[in-house]
Amino acid sequence: MATISIRDIRKSYGKTEVIHGVSLDVADGEFIVIVGPSGCGKSTLLRMVAGLERITAGTIDIGGRVVNDLEPRERNIAMVFQNYALYPHMSVFDNMAYGLKIAGQSKEEIRARVDKAAAMLQLQPYLDRKPRELSGGQRQRVAMGRALVRDPAVFLFDEPLSNLDAKLRVQMRLEIKQLQRSVGTTSLYVTHDQVEAMTLADRLVVMNGGIAEQIDTPMAVYERP
Ligand code: ADP
Ligand code: ADP
Repeated sequence: MATISIRDIRKSYGKTEVIHGVSLDVADGEFIVIVGPSGCGKSTLLRMVAGLERITAGTIDIGGRVVNDLEPRERNIAMVFQNYALYPHMSVFDNMAYGLKIAGQSKEEIRARVDKAAAMLQLQPYLDRKPRELSGGQRQRVAMGRALVRDPAVFLFDEPLSNLDAKLRVQMRLEIKQLQRSVGTTSLYVTHDQVEAMTLADRLVVMNGGIAEQIDTPMAVYERP
């Protein structure tokens, strides 16, 4: 687990600045949900924390270390995407194990970690299947399992449920909530779904036009005056 400290970060594409100086301090184990209209910069902000976009100005500190110049794999983060990004030709087990193999973990350690994550996510019966043989919800669980096995300091979620139908979305939202309670990993979660935001967030970041307009608890943000 780790704290995150984002200090006055900016992002420009060419001459156009799209993130105009965002600052945010995230406590160890805190679940932050980033909301706001399409194009406001949610994804860009998350991708800068992940190391998938260069930071134009400012600093991002994860666990006491400035990560601006670190590769994604050096940041001790794991990211869950909306399109799952699973390897179609690999089994569920191999999809979940892949990052650990790359990191040089032993076979025993990999087996133990994948089994533990599979148990938490009810994926044990499917470990030998291919992604195409799974439902959307099961695929999204595999994507979460792949993040979970790496035991990262920080989870980053980019609209992880937006490709699921309404019923599955509710179920997976509850599962993420449970996971959050049991694992307690510091998380940044992007969504445009207000119910997801209300349910999951310790605090919300409301983005608008490339700035963080409001940072507060869901109660304070959604309370009607
Ligand atoms: P959100 O995730 O809130 O929908 P984004 O972070 O994807 O917003 O985009 C923020 C702004 O940056 C938008 O105006 C978008 O068009 C622009 N943008 C995102 N990626 C690029 C890019 N690679 N090149 C140019 N502009 C981009
Ligand atoms: P999201 O749904 O996460 O907001 P988008 O569909 O807006 O993502 O963007 C998908 C990809 O296209 C991203 O890699 C983003 O950086 C890029 N992109 C978004 N807007 C622009 C833009 N105006 N010019 C160039 N690339 C863009």
